[in-house]
Amino acid sequence: MTTPLIDSHAHLDFDRFDDDREAVLQRAVDAGVDAILTIGTDLASSRRAVALAAAWPRIYASVGVHPHEADAFDDADWPELTALFADPRVRAVGETGLDYYYDFSDRGRQQALFRRHLQLCGAVGRPVVVHIRDAFDDAWALVAEEGLPAGGVVHCFTGGPAECERALALGFHVSLSGVVTFRNAKPLREAVTLIPPDRLLIETDAPFLAPVPHRGKRNEPSFVVHTAQEVAALRGETFEAVAAQTRANTIQLFGLPDPQSVQAP
Ligand SMILES: [Zn+2]
Ligand SMILES: [Zn+2]
Repeated sequence: MTTPLIDSHAHLDFDRFDDDREAVLQRAVDAGVDAILTIGTDLASSRRAVALAAAWPRIYASVGVHPHEADAFDDADWPELTALFADPRVRAVGETGLDYYYDFSDRGRQQALFRRHLQLCGAVGRPVVVHIRDAFDDAWALVAEEGLPAGGVVHCFTGGPAECERALALGFHVSLSGVVTFRNAKPLREAVTLIPPDRLLIETDAPFLAPVPHRGKRNEPSFVVHTAQEVAALRGETFEAVAAQTRANTIQLFGLPDPQSVQAP
């Protein structure tokens, strides 16, 4: 029997899955992935995420505007975006955050939208899914001001030990992606052992950042197994322990029903 585990962050609505989405989800099931959180990146993407969650019992949705999309987002669409939280399969706010590496959107605009998402968490009672790239100081300052009323996760964490300690001190869970399998990610690999067992999540961020041995290919939820194996090796734990702990943490953070009680594909 395969060990069950959860992919806490994927973008199943992206068109790179349009040709074979069903096969991708079947491979996830075959690999033991019994729940997936699919993450919206703007209003249209969030709508598609909600539709996927409605169609597939193993899928839950997060709704939000990615920092890359901050400039393109029309504030007039905010009520429509927040209305999506009426669906109980929407379990999180995001992804939101700050990305100063790509700087695809104005930084002030990214900050304003990030703040708005953090405030939304209190209103809807859902945790936040945060994306931070080369913007840790500004992100921590915003979170320190707004708080984390329903908790949250720093997804695809790529910082080192200092950033990891700061995230934990602010109350975040920390989610590790396939980047931990990249040998050149040394500070990140050092940070992996600092995360307490009850704060650790794993994810693919599919279709991006496929772990070794699939590096460079399109990522998909079944590949989260490789990330779990690497995290286990780095932490000196068994694969089964990492799978069970991260799965339990994901269920707890997002308030998911026990996947074992969910019938069907
Ligand atoms: Zn992200
Ligand atoms: Zn993402």
